[in-house]
Amino acid sequence: MAMTDCLFCKIVAGELPATKVAETDATLAFRDINPQAPTHILVIPKAHYVNAAEMVLADPDLTTRVMEEAVKIADSEELSQGYRLLFNTGKDSGQEVFHVHLHILGGKPLGPMVSV
Ligand code: 5GP
Ligand code: ZN
Repeated sequence: MAMTDCLFCKIVAGELPATKVAETDATLAFRDINPQAPTHILVIPKAHYVNAAEMVLADPDLTTRVMEEAVKIADSEELSQGYRLLFNTGKDSGQEVFHVHLHILGGKPLGPMVSV
């Protein structure tokens, strides 16, 4: 169900613009507005879940579809040298948008995963 105050639900509903990369009945992929790598795409389920933990418990098949879509997009974006898939989940991860989204990052060597 769409959440009225959710940024990514508004993108799904067409109420906010996004540079779409791919769409299925259950998922939408669009370019991140503030890319952290030459290729930075977000894959989301159209249904609203707060984070990956909530989605995987509620709908494992949908979680698989989001992951499959990310792998297909990585292929179509020619990320054959490798890429990173990332779900920020909760406060310590730095999650800022609370509609689950899978980051696809690539297009250059990405370096260490985290700085501490
Ligand atoms: P998080 O930190 O929650 O894992 O990542 C949220 C991501 O959403 C960030 O990389 C941020 O740049 C991106 N983002 C935030 N607002 C928008 C928006 O309105 N449009 C798009 N395309 N990306 C957004
Ligand atoms: Zn939402």
